[in-house]
Amino acid sequence: MSSEAPDPLQHIGAALFRPLGVDGVYARTALYEDLVERLTAFISRQRDRSAEILRFPPLMSREQLEKSGYLKSFPNLLGCVCALHGTEAEIRAAAERYEEGGDWTRALAPADLVLSPAACYPVYPLIAPRGAVPSAGLLFDVAADCFRREPSRSLDRLQSFRMREFVRIGPPEEILAFRQHWMERAQRLAAQLALPCRLDAASDPFFGRVGQVMAVSQLQQSLKFELLIPYYAGAKPTACMSFNYHRDQFGVIWGLKDEAGATAHTGCVAFGMDRLAIALFCVHGLEPARWPGSVRAALAL
Ligand code: 5GP
Ligand code: ZN
Repeated sequence: MSSEAPDPLQHIGAALFRPLGVDGVYARTALYEDLVERLTAFISRQRDRSAEILRFPPLMSREQLEKSGYLKSFPNLLGCVCALHGTEAEIRAAAERYEEGGDWTRALAPADLVLSPAACYPVYPLIAPRGAVPSAGLLFDVAADCFRREPSRSLDRLQSFRMREFVRIGPPEEILAFRQHWMERAQRLAAQLALPCRLDAASDPFFGRVGQVMAVSQLQQSLKFELLIPYYAGAKPTACMSFNYHRDQFGVIWGLKDEAGATAHTGCVAFGMDRLAIALFCVHGLEPARWPGSVRAALAL
């Protein structure tokens, strides 16, 4: 939605968020945050007992993300941490340029950190030094605050948003079975939350003209599906969860192999926590006490 068009979500946004001076970056009210906590607990209750739980900071190693191939796919979305490096005199001179009305940012240089654009990128390099992937594969429950440089006034397009993921690493058939299981289960979870939804094949917003070819190939190979939820009657539905099969991409990059030496495949199911929370408020209203009983039960409201 363009920023000029009247936004049907405006009154919802006013109750859930407070402005912080930048589009897509908001302070969250107690009403909103309480729901996100309950939704987080609801998803935790779905977790397989074998999953290893890891919570990541909003930052990750720049080198690891570069090696993951992110710059080939989404260079336009990446946020890189920059800082003032150098001697005390150099840093002082740069900072003083601001006071003099000049541009202090010219003195910035990239640090060894980027803002994590998805929750699962740090998992693969983290497990690589552990040795062979067991034949039954591995399962992780991860989460991170993610950043994508996509300023927008639309409530479902945040620059800083929370992502929860279940990540599976193992033989190809296990990854496909895991993804299939979650595509079915996600629709049941949406039904429990009384959210209208539809599952559809999808592609990532790969950058540029080469990216269009990558997107077509991703669709042709059915590598990505999304759970789409319309926020209001007639709205273009919003992708609130995604189901991704990376084939051997991360296995090759990070040398993930099973005991027999076969490269591991990987896949993930991602829950967009902020998009799911907004969906609940849009569909059921701003008073959780008045939401349908089944939804209240599922979220322990
Ligand atoms: P994906 O890696 O599939 O693009 O993102 C995983 C999930 O994160 C999406 O299904 C969506 O729920 C959430 N997500 C992606 N981009 C945004 C965004 O710009 N804003 C918000 N709030 N959530 C997002
Ligand atoms: Zn992922």
